[in-house]
Amino acid sequence: MSCDFLALAVPGVQKLSPYVPGKPVDELARELGLDPQGIVKLASNENPLGPSPKALDAIRAELGEITRYPDGSGFRLKAKLAERFGLQSTQITLGNGSNDILDLVARAWLAPGRNAVFSQYAFAVYPISTQAVGAEGRVVPARNYAHDLEAMLAAIDENTRVVFIANPNNPTGTWFGPAALESFLDRVPQDVLVVLDEAYIEFTEPGELPNGLDYVARYPNLLVSRTLCKAYGLAGLRVGYAVSSPQIADVLNRVRQPFNVNSLALVAACAALDDTDYLEAGRQLNRAGMAQLEAGLAALDLHWIPSRGNFLAVDFARDAAPVNQGLLQRGVIVRPIAGYGMPNFLRVSIGTEAENARFLEALAQVLRG
Ligand SMILES: *Cc1c(COP(=O)(O)O)cnc(C)c1O
Repeated sequence: MSCDFLALAVPGVQKLSPYVPGKPVDELARELGLDPQGIVKLASNENPLGPSPKALDAIRAELGEITRYPDGSGFRLKAKLAERFGLQSTQITLGNGSNDILDLVARAWLAPGRNAVFSQYAFAVYPISTQAVGAEGRVVPARNYAHDLEAMLAAIDENTRVVFIANPNNPTGTWFGPAALESFLDRVPQDVLVVLDEAYIEFTEPGELPNGLDYVARYPNLLVSRTLCKAYGLAGLRVGYAVSSPQIADVLNRVRQPFNVNSLALVAACAALDDTDYLEAGRQLNRAGMAQLEAGLAALDLHWIPSRGNFLAVDFARDAAPVNQGLLQRGVIVRPIAGYGMPNFLRVSIGTEAENARFLEALAQVLRG
């Protein structure tokens, strides 16, 4: 008789549902016998520009070194980030994507008997990382799909160790301004770590949203997590970072895998940070694509949640699964978000002009039936 290793898993893990990623292009191509070249994937909020040429050059130059372990301290990347943002290197923690940062936070501060507070419709990794370590996830009802920061404050109790907030949030694209953020940070108990997830901040114009880094010195319980995987175009390499007090960074460093960021990611991240033209081009493409999608959706009489990310959650006012099926059959991959409790919505990432047009055209066909 073989053992039931699910029953033997720690209780938090037994109850976990795995993260559901966007459908890979090759998988859909196999399923439908389509040419992968003809498939448009707008499902994972990736940068449609393709990688930064500077990042590619840096990767090529590093390839001969891959027999060596990477620099486990990430010295150069941390120094570059510190210089860019006027920080000390000791305030920075590097992650294998910012997902890794969220996981490190959970492992360092959460455990059975403790809880993390986050919003309904927040990023799926918050509940996964929280449950995996046996802590309770306290889901606070959203308001118009956005974080209700007042209700989140009220949900904090003596067992709360972490609050996760995202600005803008994924999958809704909703955001909050500086006054709301400051008022929130002013009232969160000082022994509760606030994780401000800014995975999409670089898609916004400077000043459009509060810059979390401006608040780290004032609020010693604040950690800002960011990523090179979205606007900087390095999703496949996995690299992100946290900015916090040196003490919080020291704790994270204790649970971090010694070589959590690989050597190609380290050099590519340095190069991508220097490629300001790439970042600006991505921002412009996103702004134009957002306008294109909004106009196209309005022409189809559809509604969506206003977004500050590189994606839109479109409301079909009925089960969106058949619409999703129709899009897949036409070679367009978007993201169903029923798993987030939003079965009537599909989340579409903003692509190139041609990709957005393909999506709108396929959508029009599907809706015509
Ligand atoms: C994509 C995303 C992340 C994590 O991205 P990484 O690829 O792990 O850097 C974190 N938070 C939110 C809200 C995201 O959408």
